[in-house]
Amino acid sequence: MPAGCIPIRKEASAIILKTHGIVLGQTPYGSQDKTLTLLTSDYGMIQVIAKKPNGKKSRLAAACEVLAYSEFCLMEGRIRYILQTADLEENFFGLREDLASLSLAGYLCELTRSLLPQKETGAETLRLLLNTLYLLEKKRRSPTFLKAVYELRLMCLSGFQPDIEGCAGCGTEEGDMWLLPGEGIALCGECLPHFIESAVRTPYRVPFPEAARRAFIYVIGAEEKKIFSFKLDPKAEKAFGEAAEAFTLFQTGSRFPTLDFYKSVADETPPKPIT
Ligand SMILES: [Zn+2]
Repeated sequence: MPAGCIPIRKEASAIILKTHGIVLGQTPYGSQDKTLTLLTSDYGMIQVIAKKPNGKKSRLAAACEVLAYSEFCLMEGRIRYILQTADLEENFFGLREDLASLSLAGYLCELTRSLLPQKETGAETLRLLLNTLYLLEKKRRSPTFLKAVYELRLMCLSGFQPDIEGCAGCGTEEGDMWLLPGEGIALCGECLPHFIESAVRTPYRVPFPEAARRAFIYVIGAEEKKIFSFKLDPKAEKAFGEAAEAFTLFQTGSRFPTLDFYKSVADETPPKPIT
């Protein structure tokens, strides 16, 4: 049994566990079963087999959909968990009515899967994802803003924290800079040429205006409950979004098909002013 789990029932040597979680992905397993990738509050990300979830007598179908949030009852198998029952609590139905929002949610799930949240960070990562999806569904904040906050905070939770309090060259903490997403540092306009001169390869960099860097600093250090409690004007929000995405892609070294799809369907018009 994974550490920290509380067995609630023991049946013929099988251990039954309960946890809350959201479905990050599903793939067919055999002809009628499915493998679910769950982000859970107690065990981080885990793989679960759902037996015939679409069978006539099954009540599991809705809880096995991607983005469904449920209380799951699981039996611990030799390799994976086996889904016993699921009590659906939220399915973010509103996201399914908007292709851009749904595709962004799909990217957030794929990114989360790629970072393999562990038991220690599972609960906070789950809360971050649920809150992001809620705000996206209710259109409380722009997709650009929510995507950037989620990417950056998730990266920090996963051990990838950029060092952008000030310029990595001279230490200044004021003014517009450049973000070097591969190195995870910021450089001012004066220090960047020196860095490039001494670098083996010219580093990729994106503009990092002061407002975007302040947003990074806020998201990295904010209390969990206040992580979305800041505002940016549309120009700063765009720069914040581009910097967060570049940092995420360079640090993970991954390409995400769901991100490409989101960009192909996203409305590129600027977000409405925040009231
Ligand atoms: Zn500098």
